[in-house]
Amino acid sequence: MAQSCKVAVIGAGVAGLVAARELIREGHHVVIFEKGDRIGGTWIYDPRIENDPLGLNPDREIVHSSLYRSLRTNLPRRIMGFSDYPFKVRDEGGDSREFPGHEEVLSYLERFARDFELTDLTRFKTEVTCVRMGTRKDEWLVESRRRKACSGLEPGSEVEMEIFQAVVVCNGHFVEPRIAAIPGIGKWPGKQIHSHNYRMPEPFKDQIVVVIGSGPSAFDISRDIAKVAKEVHLASRSPDIEVGKVHGLDNVWQHLMIESVNEDGSVIFLNGTSTFADTILHCTGYKYHFPFMEIDKIVTVEDNRVGPLYKHVFPPSLAPWLSFIGLPSKVIPFLSAELQAKWLGQILADKVTLPTEEDMLASVNEYYSDMEEMGKPKHHTHVLYPFELQSEYKNWLRAQVGLPPLEQWIWETYVATLKRLISLDDGFREKEDFNHDLQTTLDTALCNCE
Ligand code: FAD
Repeated sequence: MAQSCKVAVIGAGVAGLVAARELIREGHHVVIFEKGDRIGGTWIYDPRIENDPLGLNPDREIVHSSLYRSLRTNLPRRIMGFSDYPFKVRDEGGDSREFPGHEEVLSYLERFARDFELTDLTRFKTEVTCVRMGTRKDEWLVESRRRKACSGLEPGSEVEMEIFQAVVVCNGHFVEPRIAAIPGIGKWPGKQIHSHNYRMPEPFKDQIVVVIGSGPSAFDISRDIAKVAKEVHLASRSPDIEVGKVHGLDNVWQHLMIESVNEDGSVIFLNGTSTFADTILHCTGYKYHFPFMEIDKIVTVEDNRVGPLYKHVFPPSLAPWLSFIGLPSKVIPFLSAELQAKWLGQILADKVTLPTEEDMLASVNEYYSDMEEMGKPKHHTHVLYPFELQSEYKNWLRAQVGLPPLEQWIWETYVATLKRLISLDDGFREKEDFNHDLQTTLDTALCNCE
């Protein structure tokens, strides 16, 4: 195996940037392909919305980012940064809050790219349109085309083809909406939109809005809309959710999932309540999507399972020449991507060895059987929740690259934040007791290190 490889990284978001940095550290030659005109991926706020608000039309012009205008991070900044490049408050000002607004994250990523000289390696406005294997497993043909500034391929732009030894897929997975199936929706007269296309509350002024979901987006967006809407009704699949008026908010109600909707505009919930609504907003997550991959039979996406993938990164039969960084969800994303990237870099540099193809496949199959035994649905394959799954995974990756387990204070901070998110604690980002607890966790950890 080569010590130093020529590697194509697709995407200049968190995953692509940290992958490039780790690959360079291991002496590889990297080209980053980025269809947008700047680095940052998801963290580049784009006020445009797609022409299909549900994001289902495969021919729609895609807007990459799903950020809404008011978005603040849902993890505290102290656990969001890369391990050796903390997400600190900037000397020159900026947003110093523990849960800063999205602009602050973008600025952090721009500094990261600048400091590790990643910008010069990036081919901006260059969309990868096809990736396929050549005559050997370490020969990959990457086709790309130039794009206009913020939309569409440049008409008449030439297809460029280049050969790489390895390809790292980092194209993001918050772009292709999943929506809830609702009995009667075909005849329901209201509007529907997916959170991918939610930007600001003003269009919902005086409306009755039903928000489906119970993740961070449903939480934030329902509160954002409640400032201008007449009523907001949250519908959740979780059977243990507390239904009724949401404490502290005058116009927000929590229900169980929608049972059905009707031609007269009514929405019936499984807990027996109902309302007439103007809009249903689906905060129901996203699908993995790799439109440029020509390896259909080797890696498939079935019910949101990308597989088979050894440890969520390598298709066993193509490892290590094809890899996916950043797929796990319900994790601390920056740290996950960084560890996966370190592992990849060291494998390509021949410092760390992968098991045989058969053993990797056996490990994937064992993982699937364990999921089945635990009654987990296929679409949760890359969901590393409860958090013990994530800590086990991250510590496993750390061991592969010769690092000790992650420090305890990181997990304590993460779990404390999750608890607040899950308990739907309004305004948790500002609560003094919470910020005090986070500080105590960190202080204790630092004290124990001395
Ligand atoms: P992306 O950031 O999506 O980057 C993918 C890049 O690939 C993009 O730049 C895209 O233009 C490019 N690309 C795609 N296809 C091609 C192609 N064919 N050719 C060339 N380039 C291509 N994480 C946190 O840590 N904290 C938070 O508070 C947080 N809040 C979030 C809130 C929302 C609403 C969402 C959607 C996500 C949030 N996340 C949060 C998760 C966030 O997505 C990750 O932090 C991280 O940004 C994911 O990075 P990525 O590189 O995997 O994908």
